[in-house]
Amino acid sequence: MTTRRPIIAGNWKMYKTSGEAKSYALAFLERVGGVTEADIVLCAPFTALNVLKEELEESVVHLGAQNMSWAVEGAYTGEVSAAMLQDVACTYVILGHSERRELMHETDEMIAKKVKRALEAGLRPILCVGENLKQREAGEAQVIVQNQLKKDLAGLTEDALKKVVIAYEPIWAIGTGKTASSQDAGEMCTAIRFALAAAGPEAADVIPILYGGSVKAENIADLMARPDIDGALVGGASLDPVGFAALIENALKH
Ligand code: PEP
Repeated sequence: MTTRRPIIAGNWKMYKTSGEAKSYALAFLERVGGVTEADIVLCAPFTALNVLKEELEESVVHLGAQNMSWAVEGAYTGEVSAAMLQDVACTYVILGHSERRELMHETDEMIAKKVKRALEAGLRPILCVGENLKQREAGEAQVIVQNQLKKDLAGLTEDALKKVVIAYEPIWAIGTGKTASSQDAGEMCTAIRFALAAAGPEAADVIPILYGGSVKAENIADLMARPDIDGALVGGASLDPVGFAALIENALKH
């Protein structure tokens, strides 16, 4: 079995101006600048990426965006391309976040095109999947997640699959303060790895699977102790540089 390198990614959502991002970067680097045991990623709003590129250059912190277009370039008003993200030093991009699926009506077909485009361009997609409360209560969580994976990763070669990061984010746990129990989260991440093995057995072994949904400094260690949880996608608790650095420290303790 491969030892997978942990990834702790922050999702700032629609928070922070470029000035706020700059102050964050200074405080954050002071605390995490020496971390070598994990990949740390900040997924910031498009408008903050350029200043973060300058502040975090040659540091251990990687940059990511929260969405991108499936098109290479062209008449797509309001969209941002993979090349534009690379221009501001992004190496990761969150795709299929539940807020985009629900509020912006992104479909699995749209997300699949974005995943494919990100990989063609050399960006690492962090593909978010997860069920809502009604689906969990109906016992459908695993089927929902398996269907999302099947559709969103359709047509990828095994080599391409190896570059994907999956984030399991139960919708009922995002921004609600309700974390999935480490057992439930761990079981779903194991089920995800099993489903990925159908598409590519070697890829399934190397793909990092993150948990996301009200992750905090207090609960990260329990989650990370599960064999198929390789890291976290952190929303609210990534907004404060001191708190996020403490969360990362706890994540790497076990
Ligand atoms: C997220 O935005 O991906 C997320 C998991 O948010 P939170 O940590 O605030 O629940």
